[in-house]
Amino acid sequence: MLQIKDLHVQTEKTNILNGIHLHVSAGEVHAIMGPNGSGKSTLAKIIAGHSDYTITKGQILLEINFKYKDITHWSPDQRVKEGLFMAFQYPIEVPGVSNLQLLQSSFNAICKHHKAPEMDEKTFLNLVEKNLKKIGLPPSFIHRAVNEDFSGGEKKRNEILQMLLLAPRIAILDETDSGLDIDSLSLIAKCLKEFLDKNKALVLITHYDRLLHHIKPDFVHIIQDGKIQKTGDHTLAIDLERKGYSVL
Ligand code: ADP
Ligand code: MG
Repeated sequence: MLQIKDLHVQTEKTNILNGIHLHVSAGEVHAIMGPNGSGKSTLAKIIAGHSDYTITKGQILLEINFKYKDITHWSPDQRVKEGLFMAFQYPIEVPGVSNLQLLQSSFNAICKHHKAPEMDEKTFLNLVEKNLKKIGLPPSFIHRAVNEDFSGGEKKRNEILQMLLLAPRIAILDETDSGLDIDSLSLIAKCLKEFLDKNKALVLITHYDRLLHHIKPDFVHIIQDGKIQKTGDHTLAIDLERKGYSVL
């Protein structure tokens, strides 16, 4: 579904990613781990099409209708419309824009792109309320400004609400588990398990193996200095928890 080939990324003359290779197939769960500042969030943001970074070498390919398309220079909204989703490590607050406005216009933009009928507000509200329940947020959250004065955990759950509603094919979650209490973590893990099927894929950026106890990754990659230094199965995350980055 997603292929990243020899990706080199820089910002203001500093190299951040130095040759990332990653191949994510449908039905797979990949975990990306690595020390602070190793380039994990940059990788997630560059896959989503963030404009702060310059790609100096390499390609990002996304499978669309059984063919790989080079999306390296596509805009973020084009990528989302083709089924990519990214949950931010630090979700931003958008005062003046309600959660409902953001979600419904994103949802309808995707419908329009696929020539599917758009959803009216009442039907959409029903759908949102079902999903709010799943992630344990009260109905009032839909009318509040996007992330404004949400707690850290609420922001993370709001990212998952977006994911559930936009129904991507591939979701990249950047430290969605950080700062969640134990019950919220189980709730989100349950949503992620429900989301995953043979046509979808998950890329989980995380520091801890606690989320990975709920969702067993097929591959664990460790990034250091902007490069994947080691790839293994779920036991690599357990090793890492026990021994730290001496496993590299
Ligand atoms: P991680 O998510 O693995 O902790 P990041 O990808 O956020 O790491 O950052 C990798 C490195 O790139 C860090 O040293 C960070 O300071 C730097 N960096 C990331 N984004 C920018 C930016 N927009 N401008 C300058 N430096 C950046
Ligand atoms: Mg990060």
